[in-house]
Amino acid sequence: MSNLTFSERIHIPRYDDTAEIEYGIVTFDEEKCSGCGICVKACPADTLELMDKKSKMKTPNECMACSVCTAICPDDAITMHKNYRHSGYFKMIGFGELTMPRM
Ligand code: SF4
Ligand code: SF4
Repeated sequence: MSNLTFSERIHIPRYDDTAEIEYGIVTFDEEKCSGCGICVKACPADTLELMDKKSKMKTPNECMACSVCTAICPDDAITMHKNYRHSGYFKMIGFGELTMPRM
């Protein structure tokens, strides 16, 4: 941190720059997914879509790992696979293990 310039220290990462942001990843169990589309409508990042009656992440993915989709899926078909993280000059703190949201 001490080697950073002042402008680097006060830099705020841009949400839409993949060099500065690592987006979350959710995975789907296609056997369980009924294609109801609730997760697609609930996703605040608008990063899910239905294809062939199965939910998928859009490309590019802008998941903020909020876990809304995992909580709302009636078929328990979605799993958080990777957290959303700032990269760049931010000190990483312990995120802990990925856990299901409280219901
Ligand atoms: S909410 Fe669950 S069952 Fe419905 S489309 Fe999404 S993943 Fe499939
Ligand atoms: S974790 Fe949140 S942002 Fe990511 S896909 Fe699910 S609802 Fe969308």
